[in-house]
Amino acid sequence: FWDEAINQIKETISEQEYQLWFSRLEYLRSQNDSLFISVPSSFYRDQVKSRYLGLIETKLRELFGASFKIEFEVKPLDPYHPEKNNHQIHQEKKDHSQKVQSEVPPHSPSRAIPTVQDFGFSSLPARPKNHPKLKDVYTFENFIIGDNNSFAANAAVAIAKNPGTGYNPCLIYGGVGLGKTHLIQSIGNSVYQEFPDKKIIYVTMESFTNEFIQSIREKTQNQFKNKYRHADVLLIDDIHFLQNKTETQEELFHTFNALYDNNKQMVFTCDRPVSEIKDLTDRLRSRFERGLNVDLQPPSYETRYAILKKKIEASGITIPEESIELICSNITTNVRDLEAALTKLIAYAELVSRDITPEITKQQLKDFFANPKQKNITIDVIQRMVASYFNLSSQDLKSKRKTKAISFPRQIAMYISREVTEYSTTEIGLEFGGRDHTTIMHGCTRVADRMKSDPTLEPMVKQLIRQIKEESTKA
Ligand code: ADP
Ligand code: MG
Repeated sequence: FWDEAINQIKETISEQEYQLWFSRLEYLRSQNDSLFISVPSSFYRDQVKSRYLGLIETKLRELFGASFKIEFEVKPLDPYHPEKNNHQIHQEKKDHSQKVQSEVPPHSPSRAIPTVQDFGFSSLPARPKNHPKLKDVYTFENFIIGDNNSFAANAAVAIAKNPGTGYNPCLIYGGVGLGKTHLIQSIGNSVYQEFPDKKIIYVTMESFTNEFIQSIREKTQNQFKNKYRHADVLLIDDIHFLQNKTETQEELFHTFNALYDNNKQMVFTCDRPVSEIKDLTDRLRSRFERGLNVDLQPPSYETRYAILKKKIEASGITIPEESIELICSNITTNVRDLEAALTKLIAYAELVSRDITPEITKQQLKDFFANPKQKNITIDVIQRMVASYFNLSSQDLKSKRKTKAISFPRQIAMYISREVTEYSTTEIGLEFGGRDHTTIMHGCTRVADRMKSDPTLEPMVKQLIRQIKEESTKA
């Protein structure tokens, strides 16, 4: 049962996901309607539960018509032989099915495969039939609000409280990994809890399109229309998929009108403002723009920090402050990347039973961290940001003036240039009014020394570096 289900799930997820989360699950035994599965750690268990439990349960039910409860048992790896554990992972990664077959004879008692009769068709711990297939973890409680997303998040909460009577339709747009799916599903989950009688439909634009095409092929268009035109809350994710899909646009237009006329709530997400979707009919575009359009921006350092903290807390793992700061300063793109980095780090620490240190963080996340010496940072930007921080001009930093009010900020700018760019001290010297490379080295040493005696200096320099990096990614 287990193997069959897992093999089928394998087809539907990426190889990477499979290797990370399924290759270390092992079927142990069954009892009544429970399947016992071993996992290497509690972190791993929680991740698998929150990411895949629904999927696994659904697959088992689909395949065998009965509901199984999955019980995870934590079986830690051998902490004294991290290499060995790593090695095993590699082997298992290669071929999961083979491993199961070769290590445990299929008919050995410990692997006796349960049959449907063993379980009966008893209690469904799973979701009721009308559940709109939303991820349980996509809730407002789990969504951290920052300046970048507060407008969208508050709109989403308001809609969930009064579906159909307020902001309708609502369109949430923003780049990849910024929380569009999380928010739109949070609306669904909240309505599902608060208004159990409402019929909620969540689909991606892609599924909607495929379903529509299939309904034409199978001549079941009426069913299709009925389904979507009788929703109380229609949530459609990623409408940019509509680009160039004339017939689907037409169908959605009619669905839209039917729902709109009956005050049914619609929420859409898009990876760009609607005005930038190409080949979208004007009438549909104007429909999307009719209600409330809210955007999601990349999270600021503070928001990234808050999100990481929350996820770390949930994992129960200890991560030193310095590592958290490293991740927050280096991963600036979006929340998905932030999560992926954290997951990788925690998985590593768990699987080799090591504490996370800043060194391990750097080493394990080197692919996530864009070159720490960012190519796009210029000395010009550094001078500008440092000067403005101290109420000086870039010209002051390049000048020969030696007053204390100028020379120390100048040395800080030298130090930062050294830290975050790939320029040599000679090149840096040229940018600072043609100073000698020894002057630059002296300046850097001065700053480093003062950091040791003055505890306020380092945080200040770090903050400056952060601002410089952010300024440089904008450019
Ligand atoms: P999008 O749909 O915009 O590409 P997702 O909604 O899939 O992005 O978000 C990517 C990941 O980041 C998800 O796991 C989501 O839970 C998480 N995430 C995004 N924004 C936040 C936030 N503000 N607080 C907590 N988690 C977030
Ligand atoms: Mg999404």
